[in-house]
Amino acid sequence: MIKKLIRKILGVKGKEAPSGPVILGPQQHGIDPRLLSNNAVRVTSTLQEAGYQAFVVGGAVRDLLLGVKPKDFDIATNATPEQVKRLFRRAFIIGKRFQIVHVMFGQDLLEVTTFRGPAVDNAPKDEHGRVLRDNTFGTQAEDAERRDFTINAMYYNPATQEVLDYHGGIEDIRAKTLRIIGVPEARYREDPVRMLRVVRFAAKLQFAIEQHTAAPIRVMAPLINNVPAARVFDEMLKLLMSGHALACLQQLRKEGLHHGLLPLLDVVLEQPLGFKFVTLALDSTDRRIHAGKTVSPGFLFASLLWHQVLEKWNAYLAAGEFAIPALHQAADDVLDSQTEKLALQRKIGSDMRDIWSMQPRFERRTGKNPYKLLEHTRFRAGYDFLLLRCASGEIDTELGQWWTAFYEGDETARETLIAGLQSQSQGGGGAKRKRPPRRAPRNREGGNGGGGGGDSAPAPAHSDGE
Ligand code: ATP
Ligand code: MG
Repeated sequence: MIKKLIRKILGVKGKEAPSGPVILGPQQHGIDPRLLSNNAVRVTSTLQEAGYQAFVVGGAVRDLLLGVKPKDFDIATNATPEQVKRLFRRAFIIGKRFQIVHVMFGQDLLEVTTFRGPAVDNAPKDEHGRVLRDNTFGTQAEDAERRDFTINAMYYNPATQEVLDYHGGIEDIRAKTLRIIGVPEARYREDPVRMLRVVRFAAKLQFAIEQHTAAPIRVMAPLINNVPAARVFDEMLKLLMSGHALACLQQLRKEGLHHGLLPLLDVVLEQPLGFKFVTLALDSTDRRIHAGKTVSPGFLFASLLWHQVLEKWNAYLAAGEFAIPALHQAADDVLDSQTEKLALQRKIGSDMRDIWSMQPRFERRTGKNPYKLLEHTRFRAGYDFLLLRCASGEIDTELGQWWTAFYEGDETARETLIAGLQSQSQGGGGAKRKRPPRRAPRNREGGNGGGGGGDSAPAPAHSDGE
């Protein structure tokens, strides 16, 4: 309040202190109503017919203004969660920190949120100032003020086709700028996840981060360590699945935010082999997302942490352990430390373990071994992973090429491939190196790179079953 008064006296036209919303009609904002989902319109009109205010809000409005079809729709209303629930057949009140209503139509889920008021002074906070719980309702203007960035704080009414803009979001969209609402330090302290969000939006939308919004991040980054791991994990997953994972990670590094998010990710990224591997994995993830294909989080995290596994695997091998148990121990070590810090879900962890432990099996190409491996339920993911290893220069590209031929070949081709290897090894020559039995991996510290860059390997796709 005092801040607003001072601004008024000084005549500062701050984006933080709007007098009321700027209202834009369809001619001014240019939103194509066809980008709106029928269910979003259904929810807002049901609420409005019952006498409440209801708007599409947040990321959906931002995307509509950018001419992009939103992937989901959030609705804001002045109806309380109970009032919302009563209007829909399949509606569920969820959430502790702040209650919201999930309205379902078939598979489609819409989040309906009651306008939120300013955090009350006595709202429970942790010792670093992070707000733990507050469930105060408020006006639309107050709701806008609590949102994170100006471009995420606009409301669209499908009935009137008007956009309500409280914080200069339209201007910032046009200038491709990410600007936090309010005092940046205070907003990051309340919720450090906003630092990750700004990075994700900057990379995804290719927007610049406004100077005052960016400035405190480097210093305040450690606050992210106090956020519950599950929430950081959700945000990391969003970031990695945004279709701009590579750009996001580069931006994270640029803002000094990569430390502690994926423990040791920074170390991995600084090793030449690890860096190439992670880059290829993320690039292929991004391409899959743009092509509308699915991406498995297990594959993604298996890739990000592979070089950590490799390092430990090599250490166990050096200590005299056999290849397969050594790999399992290395996987356990990495998963144990990450499960705690990253809140990796059990299913993701077991997918990662499957992908990793399949790797030495690709080296066994005699007799029935390759056929057995082909039947593995996660073969496709393991094979894609193998191709990444080839492409990054970690292992000989010959192995990947052989498996591609085997995977795609018919029965005769497969037999020929296996026979070809046998005759090669009997002849004792050629490309195949002699290794001590049950000793892997082939790249000891620093990697023997095999065929080198490996750019000839096919681009890996990665999920189970295309
Ligand atoms: P995406 O395209 O990733 O879904 P989004 O902006 O819709 O982006 P959501 O996490 O779906 O992101 O959040 C919806 C809206 O809720 C945001 O646009 C923003 O207005 C508000 N919001 C979300 N997280 C925060 C936060 N940590 N602090 C303040 N406001 C937030
Ligand atoms: Mg959203």
